[in-house]
Amino acid sequence: MDGSNLPEVRSTCAYCGVGCGVLLRPDGAGGLTVRGDPDHPANFGRLCSKGTALGETVGLGHRLLTPRAFGRNVGWDNALQLVADRFRETIAAHGPDSVAFYVSGQLLTEDYYVANKLMKGFIGSANIDTNSRLCMASTVAGHKRAFGTDTVPGTYEDLDQADLVVLVGSNLAWCHPVLYQRVLAARQARGTRIVVIDPRRTASCDQADLHLALNPGSDVALFNGLLTEIHRRGAVDPDFVRLTSGLEAALETAGNDQISETGLPAEKLAAFFDLWINTPRVVTVFSQGVNQSSSGTDKVNAILNSHLATGRIGRPGMGPFSVTGQPNAMGGREVGGLANTLACHLDIENADHRAAVQAYWQAPAIPQSPGLKAVDMFRAVEDGQIKALWIIHTNPAATMPEADRVSRAIAACSFTVVSDLTLNTDTARLADVVLPAAGWAEKNGTVTNSDRTISRQRAVLQSPGQARPDWDILAEVGRRMGWKTAFDYASPAEIFREYAAMSQIAAQFGKDFDISGFSEIDEAGYAELEPTRWPLGRKGAGGRFFGGGHFFHSDRKARIVPVAHRRPAALPGPKYPFVMNTGRTRDQWHTMTRTGLSARLSAHLAEPFVDIHPQDAAREGISSADLVEVTSPTGRGIFRARITQDVRIGHVFAPIHWTAETAPSGRVDMLVPGTTDPISGQPESKATPVSISLMQAPWYAFAVSRNPLTPSVAYRATVRTDNGYRTELADHARIKNWEQTAREWFALTDADAVTAGDPARGSFRIALSQNGCLQAALFVSPRPLPLMRDYLASMPDIPPAQFLTGRAPADAKDTGPIICACFGVGLKTIVDAISCGKAISVDAIGAALSAGTNCGSCRPELGALIDRYSPDAADNLSLQLQGGVA
Ligand code: SF4
Repeated sequence: MDGSNLPEVRSTCAYCGVGCGVLLRPDGAGGLTVRGDPDHPANFGRLCSKGTALGETVGLGHRLLTPRAFGRNVGWDNALQLVADRFRETIAAHGPDSVAFYVSGQLLTEDYYVANKLMKGFIGSANIDTNSRLCMASTVAGHKRAFGTDTVPGTYEDLDQADLVVLVGSNLAWCHPVLYQRVLAARQARGTRIVVIDPRRTASCDQADLHLALNPGSDVALFNGLLTEIHRRGAVDPDFVRLTSGLEAALETAGNDQISETGLPAEKLAAFFDLWINTPRVVTVFSQGVNQSSSGTDKVNAILNSHLATGRIGRPGMGPFSVTGQPNAMGGREVGGLANTLACHLDIENADHRAAVQAYWQAPAIPQSPGLKAVDMFRAVEDGQIKALWIIHTNPAATMPEADRVSRAIAACSFTVVSDLTLNTDTARLADVVLPAAGWAEKNGTVTNSDRTISRQRAVLQSPGQARPDWDILAEVGRRMGWKTAFDYASPAEIFREYAAMSQIAAQFGKDFDISGFSEIDEAGYAELEPTRWPLGRKGAGGRFFGGGHFFHSDRKARIVPVAHRRPAALPGPKYPFVMNTGRTRDQWHTMTRTGLSARLSAHLAEPFVDIHPQDAAREGISSADLVEVTSPTGRGIFRARITQDVRIGHVFAPIHWTAETAPSGRVDMLVPGTTDPISGQPESKATPVSISLMQAPWYAFAVSRNPLTPSVAYRATVRTDNGYRTELADHARIKNWEQTAREWFALTDADAVTAGDPARGSFRIALSQNGCLQAALFVSPRPLPLMRDYLASMPDIPPAQFLTGRAPADAKDTGPIICACFGVGLKTIVDAISCGKAISVDAIGAALSAGTNCGSCRPELGALIDRYSPDAADNLSLQLQGGVA
């Protein structure tokens, strides 16, 4: 059936905290067409590569369709009763703090609200924490210290109106691409300048006027230096400072810090201070590079201090602006998804707030103190203090620091429930009960983006099998645990209404979070709800925060918090001489459970990699495309080497996306220690001391196959292609009979085989076909293999013997790894156009090849390729493919 006559449905992107509006239309074949919503205030029609590919991720092949308990399919009735009974029995025997929920910034606000109400109001424990703890808990703590509440004063319009945008620990170009495009548009329109503060050179540096590659963890020293300089130059705003307290103490502490801790040259520091101090309209955008630190909260306050001292906050084009990683990280903060907060920004430590929340919910209990934050929660699971655990839409076995330890703890927990779309996650595989949850395109609810805009997510596809919305699953468990009235919800609109009415309590306590204007919204109003930035009280919209002061401490003053620089908790030394940074890649999202379903997104960077500086690589005997062992005190991984000056000497960078399913030895979080910020509880994910060494294996292999290839070897990395899968392999164990091994690995024992190579010299190639159709091929070599991987991954219809040459025929072109995911334009195509002089600007590449003309996410890479390969470039090196072997 063709879906082209169906109406488009307005919804919100499933991924990052930009919260782009999307227009979705079922294609009649189970998929979706997707385009940006031109009327959504976050993106005005723009989407990045991930958003553009949303329609490719809604297939059902991987979906869990039926509840499962202890390895068997069961009905919902049995599954829900089992969950309710086991939680009730555990609480009865061991108390409410013996159970926990670990939830996700990808839950809708209505889901979050029910989970939080169930745990905090009815079970009576605060042991509910969210994976946003790993993302922006330091911002929450910093905001609360400075403002009295977790209020984000910035708006996206500020980025349009700023004269200077400072990106601190934020690769906005890859992690929030649509916001980055807004910044670039402002640059074009009004000459907005850009400063990037990041130890690593990222795609966001491409258009930057200044890149400060500071020492990891030295942001406090830098911003204390800025505060000192603001004061020295008389740039403090005395009228605004009267609305604050603490400046003198903060200046004294800042004055004791050593700016040399940043490792930045004096001229770069002076340029930054000049730019910041002389530009009133400055927005300081910060993200995980600030938050994921053992001093993350202090870093946040160091940034806020400079804005408070100058009064550059809450007015057009200026202010500190934290951008969130997940689609509803902000909604989770608002609804009390963190173990140390109550709903509506109310405080768990405040007896009046607790009493008001308990009364509103007519709840039997309310916790008297904060619950366990994520790292401590899983330590309590390990210790056996937590005996029943419900993990909802998140994958802690892959993403928590010390991931292997967390996996063992989950596996050993007395009773673990997972709600998810699939059984194929590292965490779901460990659970006793797995509940099939509805997916992004099947759910109704709301999300809040980074600038406090609440948007509707709307169901556009039917849930497959027996999958159900999370609010519905949670409410049913609540009813079965005995709280029938409190969880008697018929729709997400009813939950939203209750939540909106609850926010009036917060307003009465003088808190910021007020959406009571929605407290009488009916089903039709909820269905039509337009994107709305809060506050929205009963008397209407509240406008901006803090332009005229009015902070949320009891004296209504902000706090300029004295903060002193602290180095990362663990420093490099003789055993672990490198510092490992971690982060995202452009086209993948979290653990790839969704983006990994898209072949074109998977084509950008197809392996877990580690970026190494050329001098370090030379010293360690590592060449581009070698495999490298990376070892920390908590684990050892294997990654493909990329030699690049983007990282500093002594530093390496590895992406976060790989899991036991896709690349068991490429899981970066098994290397990251569980060290946390003492205030926020957020782990230090950006500064892990590691050692690196060349992995020397007797064989390396590349495979293409119609079905996934999962042999147990030292190194395996698998991604999807249009026709199946491509896999990189290596191991220390020698294999005697490669043909037999290949047949077993591919489960093609009876297939027709064509072979080539010299097994005695460690070289072997085999193509396996059935009925004249290529099913799989394996290329083995004693060294990392030079092959036309992207061409081979397409499994072209050519004779097997020709396929085994590993090269395209003369009349076929290997375009190389995908750079522009929207139009499928490969690296080699782009480099050819640049090096022959046909396209030596990003716009010219767009005109010639269309690359970079849709979402714009690849434009920084196009610029970098021009720098490198244009006929005039001094650095016109031989072509090295990204994430693989040329
Ligand atoms: Fe989605 Fe990209 Fe927009 Fe983020 S920037 S919300 S990933 S389309």
